[in-house]
Amino acid sequence: MPGRPPARAEAGGAAAAGVAGFPIGDAGRMLAADGPSPADAMNLARQLRSFLLRLLLILLPGVLAAGLAYRHFVDSELAQLARANEARLEFYRSSLIQTLEEFRLLPGVVGLDGRVRRLLEEPGRRDQVEAVNRYLEQVSTDPAIQFVFLLDPRGTALAASNWQDGYSLVGRNYGFRPYFEDAMNGRAGRFYGIGVTTQLAGFFLSAPVTIDGRIAGVAVVKISLDRLEEAWRRSGDLLMLTDRLGVALMASSPGWKFRSLSPIGPEQAETLAHTQQYLYEDLPPLRDADGAPMAAMPGETRVVSLAPDAQPFVSARRQARRDYLLQAATLPDYGWQLLFFAELTDVRVMALTGAVAVGLATLLVLTAGMLLELRRRRLQERQAARAALEKIQADLEARIAERTEALTVANRSLEQRVAALKDAEQILTRTRDSAVQAGKLAVLGQMAAGITHEINQPLAALTTLADNASTLVDRGRSDEARQNLGYISQLAQRMGRIVGQLKTFARRDDEHLSAVAVSDSMNNVLRLFGTRGKHPGLDISVSCRQPGVHVRADPVRLEQVLLNLVTNAADAMDQQDEGRLDIVCDCDGEAVEITLRDNGPGIAPEVLPHLFEPFFTTKPAGKGLGLGLAISRLIVESLEGRLEAGNNDNGGAWFRLRVPSAEPPD
Ligand code: ADP
Repeated sequence: MPGRPPARAEAGGAAAAGVAGFPIGDAGRMLAADGPSPADAMNLARQLRSFLLRLLLILLPGVLAAGLAYRHFVDSELAQLARANEARLEFYRSSLIQTLEEFRLLPGVVGLDGRVRRLLEEPGRRDQVEAVNRYLEQVSTDPAIQFVFLLDPRGTALAASNWQDGYSLVGRNYGFRPYFEDAMNGRAGRFYGIGVTTQLAGFFLSAPVTIDGRIAGVAVVKISLDRLEEAWRRSGDLLMLTDRLGVALMASSPGWKFRSLSPIGPEQAETLAHTQQYLYEDLPPLRDADGAPMAAMPGETRVVSLAPDAQPFVSARRQARRDYLLQAATLPDYGWQLLFFAELTDVRVMALTGAVAVGLATLLVLTAGMLLELRRRRLQERQAARAALEKIQADLEARIAERTEALTVANRSLEQRVAALKDAEQILTRTRDSAVQAGKLAVLGQMAAGITHEINQPLAALTTLADNASTLVDRGRSDEARQNLGYISQLAQRMGRIVGQLKTFARRDDEHLSAVAVSDSMNNVLRLFGTRGKHPGLDISVSCRQPGVHVRADPVRLEQVLLNLVTNAADAMDQQDEGRLDIVCDCDGEAVEITLRDNGPGIAPEVLPHLFEPFFTTKPAGKGLGLGLAISRLIVESLEGRLEAGNNDNGGAWFRLRVPSAEPPD
């Protein structure tokens, strides 16, 4: 059906485009397709791009918010840490000062002791040296005190609390030490340094011993800061105490001790060599991760990055750089600085946690917002699609109504046409009937004329002969009368023949049809024709291309037709010396054609149109009735066949009858 494929193509087009331009589900389209088409791939890429863009729109603010939150949290955590550590630093500072000041008055007190003063007055007396040694030993019983000793005005130790030890200070000179010089200048001395004799680090407190208005010696107390340092270590806090050169005297991390915050200059190095403050220590500088010295201003709070070798607690936890919050407090009386370091790991972790939370919250809010927006858009799209669908449905209904209307109109016009056709058919039937009637009447007229012509002559002859016969009988001329009666009989016979032929013409019998072998019919016809034996010079040949072919016919009437055609041919060639008739039969599956060709005079052109008309003959009166071909055609047509005639190209006439073939009987 040619209308179908375009309709299907249209439907396919509509499905691909979606309804009224609204794309149908991509997943659905991908399922429907055999494989991804270029359009599908482009669509996928577009969706991926839009997804990535949306992701970026969510992620970017999320990351930004997290970054800002991180900065904010770091700052606020740092401020909080700084506040908390400031209090701790103050605590450490005051406890340090307390430790340093606890024995501040002890040297002065030692200088007031009578034994001490006497020894200074008479340094050479051995008994007094021993008494002072024992006294000093008593004084230094406090575990915080390392030694207590007495120097003469040249700086040589006259007596010491460790007088019995192998590394007794007695007899050694400490005149180069600043605390001695301070005391000799009438001031109380304060000095931190490593002991040149004992190599123990400690804090020296000194006081002049004045006898009779002159400084007769110097009393010195050396305090150990080890306990305090140990307390720092145990506290877990990171502390460093630096002197005015920036050298770490005390540190909670052992690696920091005796390292300087800033490099020691040559002048300072010379002073240190003189005072032997740090004895043989190298005092390597302690730098931050960027290589800069780590000086800190009092009251300053800043973040420093420590390189691995500067990081406290030598362990595997060392990192390339580690940040600390550095706070400093001063001890003005000493020119020292107490530094407090706080690890920032917790700050960073807290800030990071806060930032992640803020980032996630932002992501959550944005995702929810985007989902809501998407939902709103989907709803809008769905509403638009529904509206479009409704419009299409309405259009469709309108078109259906339109088509239905058109169909109704067409139907009505069809009904009208059918009615008109029926009318026409009726008219045709009526016309045909009247035509048939007219044809019949015409044939009847023809026949009547023919019969009248054929019968009138014998009737007139009969009348004459009968009249003559009765006259001859009256005259007694019986022989002549008998002769006339004989003519009458002949004429009656002829009239009987005419009537007999008419009977055949009138009869239509198709009840005796059967499968008839064409060869059998031909043989019968030739035998019948031969028995008449009127045509000695005629040569007849019969050939069948398919032997044994059958036709559906009444055998007697088929033979009647064939005999008529053979007789006509023979009649036409009557005057010739050599007459020839070729009969050929051929079967094309549907029908059998029997063609008869003679070499007679052929059919004159004026005769041809009337050949099959009843009573048409060119034969002399009494020879032919002109019914043979008319009857033959009638018979052949009653077999649903055809009978035609024409002239051969090389002279003579041909007649061809075509009759439906039949299966041979079993
Ligand atoms: P009839 O034989 O009584 O004349 P037909 O109807 O058989 O009647 O023939 C009609 C006419 O057809 C013949 O009179 C003749 O003129 C012509 N005709 C028939 N057969 C032939 C033929 N083989 N050759 C020439 N004319 C023919």
